[in-house]
Amino acid sequence: MVNILLVEDDEVDVMNVKRAFKKNNVTNPLFVCNNGLEALQFLRGDRETGASEMPKIILLDLNMPKMGGIEFLREIRKDDKLKNISVFVMTTSNEDKDKVDAYNLNVAGYILKPLSMERFIEAVSTLNNYWKLCEFPDK
Ligand SMILES: [Mg+2]
Repeated sequence: MVNILLVEDDEVDVMNVKRAFKKNNVTNPLFVCNNGLEALQFLRGDRETGASEMPKIILLDLNMPKMGGIEFLREIRKDDKLKNISVFVMTTSNEDKDKVDAYNLNVAGYILKPLSMERFIEAVSTLNNYWKLCEFPDK
C-alpha cells in the first residue's frame, strides 16, 4: 500500500482529509506537511523512522506560507528522485492560471475543495478508487 503525503497549511482541511480517509476506510499511511518547504525537507530525507518509504501520491494545497503548491511542484519536477510522484492538487483556487501551471507541471488532477463534508468524502472516495486501480513501481 503506497504512502500518501498531504501538503496543507489549513488545520481544518487536514482534519477533513483525515476524516474523509476514515469514512472511506482508506488505510494508506498518511503523512502531513504544512507547506512546500516542509514537504521538500520531508521528501529529501527528513522522513521519520518507519516512514522511510517514499510517498507515491501527494495531495497538494496551493496557497500556503513559505512555499506554495506551484513552487513546490516546480521543485519536485526537476528533482530526479521526486519527479515521478503523482500529485493531486486540492485547492480553493478556481484561477485558470493555477490550473494551467499545475497541469504544465504534470499533476494527476486538479480538484476544487468541495464546500460540504459530504461532497468532500465523495471526492476522497473517487480518488481512493482511482489510486487503488493504479499500479505503482516498487521503488
Ligand atoms: Mg492553504
